[in-house]
Amino acid sequence: MPRKFCINNLPEICNTIPAAVIAFDTNCRVLVFNKYAESFFGVHPSIIVGYNLHSVGITFGSEDQNIASLLTTGESIIDKELTITYNNTPYPVRLSVNPLYNCDGTITGALAILHDNSLVSLPEPRMQHLETLASIGEMTAGTIHEIRNPLTSISGFVQLLSVRAMRQHDETSIEYCRLISDEVTHINNILSDFLTLAKPQPNKFLKLNIIRPISDVLTLLYGEALMYGIDIKQNIDNETLYVMGNSEKIREVLINLCRNAFQAMTRGGTLTLTVKSDENAITTMITDTGHGMSLELIDNIFKPFFTTKETGTGLGLSVCQRIIREHNGQINVASKPGEGTTFTLLFPRLKE
Ligand code: ADP
Ligand code: MG
Repeated sequence: MPRKFCINNLPEICNTIPAAVIAFDTNCRVLVFNKYAESFFGVHPSIIVGYNLHSVGITFGSEDQNIASLLTTGESIIDKELTITYNNTPYPVRLSVNPLYNCDGTITGALAILHDNSLVSLPEPRMQHLETLASIGEMTAGTIHEIRNPLTSISGFVQLLSVRAMRQHDETSIEYCRLISDEVTHINNILSDFLTLAKPQPNKFLKLNIIRPISDVLTLLYGEALMYGIDIKQNIDNETLYVMGNSEKIREVLINLCRNAFQAMTRGGTLTLTVKSDENAITTMITDTGHGMSLELIDNIFKPFFTTKETGTGLGLSVCQRIIREHNGQINVASKPGEGTTFTLLFPRLKE
């Protein structure tokens, strides 16, 4: 007979279970995300609790369907080995899910208990894999610096050639120089993004007012928006909202998302930046009226090097995702082809 958990005192009960626990109601809205779940996924409960499991990016893989039927039939899932995903990252787990009952005996939700299976099943290879990744990171960072130096020389000499070609009114050479210059800039962009991904810098996190970097970015991008024929609208509900974070990095995320939005609005449009807050979380939304994305496209956009642009690096969103994770936050996307896209960032809010 499976044990019957009762909805009363659920958070306290869950924190006594030595495993990651997620309780949710029949609409899959998260009720409890215990402290083990917090460290397992590396995300603060404030940006999970109260939201739908799928909208925060948690899926139970092959058991999704069984969980949906469990919420009506009450049939438990016991100790299944599977891979669940959070924010597109796979987590091998052993999963048990029991229905949660109201005091009157009706099902009011479910309690999922997750045991980390990654190190249990593959201790040695996984450790080796992590070590290999770390040394690849080091090597990549070194190589990138080595490539940058000759690139700087190439840029310099191309500029000299370009000046000479201009003096001689040699239009063909001027055009070739411009092409070389553009390509060098493109290589440099790839290298900077790749460096952020391969070897994240140690984080200098401080208590900061997130409205600051947001305003900075709007000021910075104002001219660019004008050039693309884009209106910028702001919708900010509070002038001071504190987070634990790094201004530079938050700026980098916002610039990436706004630039993507600009590039999606080739015939002009409106970019709306909304900031909403509640006691626990800060929600920042970047909405464009651009060409939007199909579901298939959305599945790929966070993969490194995935791009649909001729001169894209395909690294912008991977960098954004990494930075947001470092801030214990979340990045989600909603889009409709032909109508536009909204990227939503969630940050845990610091008390003043
Ligand atoms: P890049 O901008 O270099 O292509 P990103 O990682 O920033 O790389 O974006 C990956 C892909 O996601 C883009 O090539 C584009 O297809 C899609 N994308 C990102 N943002 C938007 C947006 N606001 N509207 C439509 N498509 C987008
Ligand atoms: Mg981009």
